[in-house]
Amino acid sequence: MQFQNTRAFAQEMDARDPLKTYKREFIFPEVNGRPVIYFTGNSLGLQPKRTRKYVDEVMTDWAELAVEGHFQAGKPWWDYQERFAVPLSAVVGAQPSEVTVMNTLTVNLHLLMVSFYRPAAGRYKILCEAKAFPSDQYMLQSQVKFHGFSPEDAIVEIGKREGEHHIRTEDILDKIAEIGDELALVLIGGVNYYTGQVFDMEAITRAGHRAGAMVGWDLAHAAGNVKLKLHDWDVDFAAWCSYKYMNSGPGNASGAFIHEKHHQNKELPRFAGWWGHNKERRFLMEPSFDPVHGADGWQVSNLPVLSLAPYLASVEMFAEVGMDALIAKRDVLTAYLEYILREVDAQTFGEFEIITPDKPGERGCQLSVLLHGQGRPLFDYLMKNGVVTDWREPNVIRLAPAPFYCSFEDMYEFGKILKKGIDTLQTT
Ligand SMILES: *Cc1c(COP(=O)(O)O)cnc(C)c1O
Repeated sequence: MQFQNTRAFAQEMDARDPLKTYKREFIFPEVNGRPVIYFTGNSLGLQPKRTRKYVDEVMTDWAELAVEGHFQAGKPWWDYQERFAVPLSAVVGAQPSEVTVMNTLTVNLHLLMVSFYRPAAGRYKILCEAKAFPSDQYMLQSQVKFHGFSPEDAIVEIGKREGEHHIRTEDILDKIAEIGDELALVLIGGVNYYTGQVFDMEAITRAGHRAGAMVGWDLAHAAGNVKLKLHDWDVDFAAWCSYKYMNSGPGNASGAFIHEKHHQNKELPRFAGWWGHNKERRFLMEPSFDPVHGADGWQVSNLPVLSLAPYLASVEMFAEVGMDALIAKRDVLTAYLEYILREVDAQTFGEFEIITPDKPGERGCQLSVLLHGQGRPLFDYLMKNGVVTDWREPNVIRLAPAPFYCSFEDMYEFGKILKKGIDTLQTT
């Protein structure tokens, strides 16, 4: 498509956008009396207007029914998480029995590692990406230490080559083959939070299995952003948070995936709790644990219904639109943002460089921009002028035009503000 850097062109793209009405379904903070241009849906998604109704419903049931709400609420609390199975499995490409919602992301990765990181003498190593999200690094370090290994020896990081911005798939596959029999687990972020690179999850999962390892994915930046086929790719387990692209509110509940092939395996250790116990017999308070079949069998505690309510609002919204429609818009919108960035860059003499892969399939919504000229002052200028981005040390701003609520005109407007910011800062 031939893009143009004009308001008329952007407005024309918006007019033809099948998802255009969804922008009105979200609440935007305001700066200088105008709704912001919001690029940080990869960090905290905006609040959908319909969410409040879902929360109010629980508040009202609690007020009117109190303990009876467990069974008598319009959406009974005791099995509230079952409402997620169908819509959420469509988001991540799973069977309904393979997904559940519980706890928070890092907690779920820890719990899933109890089942799927079972190091033995000889086979104990974990492969992850270099510069993984800090929480993932701390989690992996503490897990290997818990099992009596040293992180220096047991955690193998795969990084990018000198002078390059992304990790090559071939290098990951080679590293897996090289570790071979010593490899117990591959655990990588499906979309790198810093560069926005989307890994070839299918090929990496296959290679991990060929080496005899388990393969899990942290899908924090992938869920609700990229096409996932967790079941077909034969992924062993995965977890994601719901507050980034999935718009469910700050620090909110996590989703987890456990492949069907592990559901029958009674040998897998797991840290159990009463909400994972046989549903029909849960309130008989029996002494021995009989897990629910499927991912729900990994549940631990009584459900945090007040935090699941906003997540349900969001998941139902995703079901209404479908990942394919979101991804179709995402690709054009992100390409338009890239075009706008290159236009501004050309007018301002190499101020910055996009470090996100430009090949389709290797990126989702996010573009990470490495600033060579103005750094922090430019970021501050953008914030003051109603463009919300985020800053990552040493010199990167991340821009994620979430297709649910970002428009083409937003991209055009952003280009104008960016150009003005660079010009202003150069002359001061
Ligand atoms: C956002 C993010 C997290 C956050 O984990 P929480 O347990 O929800 O705080 C973890 N890992 C990755 C890769 C992330 O992007």
